[in-house]
Parts: sequence; structure tokens; C-alpha cells
Amino acid sequence: MIQYQHSLEELNSFRISAKAEAYLALERLDQLALLSDWRNRPNYILGGGSNILLAGDLPGLVIHNQLKGKRLVGQDQEFVYLEVAAGENWQELVLYSLANNWAGLENLALIPGSVGAAPVQNIGAYGVEFSEVCHLIQAWDMQQQRFCKFESTDCQFAYRDSIFKSLYPGRFIICSLVLKLRRQPSYRLDYGNIREEIGDQPLSIRAVAEAVMRIRRSKLPDPKELPNAGSFFKNPLVAAEKLEQLLAQYPKMPHYLQADGRLKLAAGWLIDQAGWKGKRMGAVGVHERQALVLVKYAEARGQEIVQLAEAVQQDIAQKFGVNLVPEVNYWP
Ligand SMILES: Cc1cc2nc3c(=O)[nH]c(=O)nc-3n(C[C@H](O)[C@H](O)[C@H](O)COP(=O)(O)OP(=O)(O)OC[C@H]3O[C@@H](n4cnc5c(N)ncnc54)[C@H](O)[C@@H]3O)c2cc1C
Repeated sequence: MIQYQHSLEELNSFRISAKAEAYLALERLDQLALLSDWRNRPNYILGGGSNILLAGDLPGLVIHNQLKGKRLVGQDQEFVYLEVAAGENWQELVLYSLANNWAGLENLALIPGSVGAAPVQNIGAYGVEFSEVCHLIQAWDMQQQRFCKFESTDCQFAYRDSIFKSLYPGRFIICSLVLKLRRQPSYRLDYGNIREEIGDQPLSIRAVAEAVMRIRRSKLPDPKELPNAGSFFKNPLVAAEKLEQLLAQYPKMPHYLQADGRLKLAAGWLIDQAGWKGKRMGAVGVHERQALVLVKYAEARGQEIVQLAEAVQQDIAQKFGVNLVPEVNYWP
């Protein structure tokens, strides 16, 4: 049932102490009927809280998705179709797919958070994005108070983006997904140093996932030990002319050609070059090994992280003429 003035401190990976005016743990679909009174108030759909920054207390309702369940809904020669409820844990799903020898999620191992959040920013890692395994999304429309279905092509998936993030934040509660997983693996080993990490081991989806997990553990701070929300900024996309200007000044600047012809820069490299790696502002700072990750060293308000992020953004804009856009969602 709805609870009032609910603490969110344990429910976000930055461990920011903030309260929700109202809070509902969504465990069953019939609870969605309770939400009609809230449709004209601000609402926030919460999964594992690993991609949000609580900038202050939240007016309105936090809907904490805890819907559980998995079932096979179809199969053909090439694929199995697995329906997964949105409140399932992403990493547990990856392990479940490995145990069944279903391929497609191995490069996405160890991304924190819930299954329902995966389409929102089209999670991606090590050369693979969620959109590649997405078949169908089932969601509750808060505005129209009814269920609706989205095919993968309806979602406008892009780099860390989808309609759920940019067009309709808070409108659709994703309740379940149908994933399309391969019976035969189609390995993606060229990103990062997966190949080197696997070494002489026989190639399998488990070997890939384990390599990805080892690399991630060595690079990224564990939010349980040092609160953070992973990559704080998106890698910026620039036009070819802008890249040329930058390369004239910084010939070693990493850049990656995208399918749409734009070029992706490495936000972490820019932040590192600008001298922010390891810098602290009071209780918060830029991680000492991974410049793309902002961390909270001691008790701090969300506003302190907002201020740090703004200082980094201003400096990068001034030094490189590049705008960094947060990947993390600011609430409110
Ligand atoms: C250490 C670390 C490493 C990370 N590495 C990666 C990475 O490699 N790649 C990557 O893409 N991300 C990464 N992230 C970010 C994060 O793990 C993902 O964005 C993840 O999908 C967030 O899941 P969550 O359940 O915690 O979402 P939350 O933080 O709870 O929510 C994130 C957004 O999704 C919305 N949302 C959540 N659930 C639903 C739902 N059921 N219906 C509708 N909207 C919903 C929320 O409203 C919010 O806007 C990392 C984070 C951390 C802390």
C-alpha cells in the first residue's frame, strides 16, 4: 500500500538521503489500479536506483517496481523468447541465461539494476546494447490507465536513449519484457580487452561473461563500497568538422565512428585530460581511476553531486567546446 514520507536512502546507489512524498512497492499488477489518483501528480518509477541522482526530496509518488517472474513464451530454430518481469535483477537474468546456454546477454554482465530499466536508457557495454535482444515491451500507461505493448522498433532505441527516457519519462511503467536470445552464440569480442582476458580458455558465452565481469570489477568502483551511479556522463557525439578541430590540438584524442556518421568521443578521456581525475569537492569527487564516475566519499546531499557535475561540464565546455550530457537521471 502507499506509504508517505518514505526514505529512499537504501534505494539509490549514491546512498543519498532523501524522502518520497508517497511510495508504492509494486509487487502485483492489480496494484496499478491504485495509481489513478496520482496520474496528474509527479511520479517516478524506481528500479534498483543505480542510474538516478536524488537532488532533493521528491514531491509525488515513487513507484518501486518489484514485479517478479520469468517464463519461456516461444522458440524457433534460432531464438528462444523469454518473458521477464521488470522487477527482476539484471545480473541474475544474465546468470540465468548463461545457465540455460542462451546467448545475447553475456557482454552485458554485471550491469547493476533491474530488468525494467534496461530499455529506458538502452543499457550497453562491451559493444552490445539492450536493443539487440529486445523483442517486446509491456507497460502500463499512467496517462491512459491501460496496458500497452511496444515492439522493439517502436522504442527509438539510440545510444543510452529510448522514448521511455527522452519522450515519456514517468509515463510508462515497464512491467515486463520479452527478450530474444540466441540458441547459437554470435560472439562480440572486439570491444575493450575481452579477447585478451579470455586468453587460451575455450570460447563460450560463460567465458565471455566471466571476462567482462573481471574487467568491470577491476575498473569500476562497487557502489556498495563507494557510492556512485556508474558512468555519470554520456560519451558526446560530434560532427566530423568538430573532431578535425579537436584532433589538430589533441592528436591522441580517442574517437569512434557511429553508424549515423557522427563521431563519439570518450567523455572519461576529456575529463581526465582536463585534470579532474581524483579531484574532490568536499565529500564528493571524480573517481581516482575512472574519470567518468562521480563518487560520494562521505555523507553528502544530492546537490553537492549536481554542483560537481556542473563544474565538470563547464570546464569541459570551456576547454574543448564539447557539451557533456548526464547519463544519470536527476530527480526531481
Ligand atoms: C557501477 C555501475 C556500473 C554501471 N554500468 C553500466 C553500463 O555498463 N552500461 C549501462 O548502460 N549502464 C550502466 N550503469 C547504469 C545502470 O546500471 C543502468 O542504467 C540500469 O539499467 C539502471 O537500472 P535501475 O533498475 O537501477 O534503474 P533506476 O536507477 O531505478 O532507474 C533508472 C531510470 O529508469 C527508469 N525506470 C526504472 N525502472 C523502470 C520501469 N520499470 N519502467 C519505466 N521506467 C523505469 C527510472 O524512472 C529512471 O529514469 C551502471 C551503474 C553503476 C552504479
